[in-house]
Amino acid sequence: MAAKIRVTVWHEHRHEKTSEAVRAVYPDGMHTVLAGALRSAGDMEVRTATQDEPEHGLTDQVLAETDVLTWWGHKAHHEVRDDIVAKVQKKVLAGMGLLVLHSAHYSKIFNNLMGTSCSLKWREANDREILWFTAPGHPIVAGLSDHVVIPREEMYGEHFDVPEPDETVLISSFTGGEVFRSGLVYRRGAGRIFYFRPGHETYPTYYQREIQQIIVNAVRYLAPAVGSAAQTYGRREPIA
Ligand code: ZN
Repeated sequence: MAAKIRVTVWHEHRHEKTSEAVRAVYPDGMHTVLAGALRSAGDMEVRTATQDEPEHGLTDQVLAETDVLTWWGHKAHHEVRDDIVAKVQKKVLAGMGLLVLHSAHYSKIFNNLMGTSCSLKWREANDREILWFTAPGHPIVAGLSDHVVIPREEMYGEHFDVPEPDETVLISSFTGGEVFRSGLVYRRGAGRIFYFRPGHETYPTYYQREIQQIIVNAVRYLAPAVGSAAQTYGRREPIA
């Protein structure tokens, strides 16, 4: 049997502590719902880490034992330590997968990896979101038809100031007429990154079956190939 994918679900975990409305949706924190969905997949070994733990829960050992890191943050991006972001970035470039969720478009780690502002338009007004699949057959949408409807979500609208992605897997439309590139794959060094838009903290989006399926698929897609060797650089002798 293949080794399990080692996943660390990282969560800011602040809204749940201060907002009754968010606590009503995620009483034990959003990270427990995400971790539960990933554990149910059966082929993953899942742990969680939160921002207020020592070293944000991302010690050298945790990072060394992580194949794929998922990241949700919103109100405290600026409090994430730069030295830990640098370690995460180094791990991504060396092959660790990174799943960037919703408002983590403004996280330090995503901003550093993209090199652009990652700004967008937004509105919190119970928009209906339809995620359309723009890459049929892509592993990230395996097991699903050709779209997913989320009854109520926050709107994110273009322009999304990110570099042109390596793959665009999902585009959303919203009740107000806006559109947004909601599922984007990037390769940086040996690592893969997937930005996945849905997941505002006051909506039960991460309980939705299809959304959980996309997250499970994405983690599998982002996991580094078993046995992939570290690259070497610099001067070398010719092959005899
Ligand atoms: Zn939001």
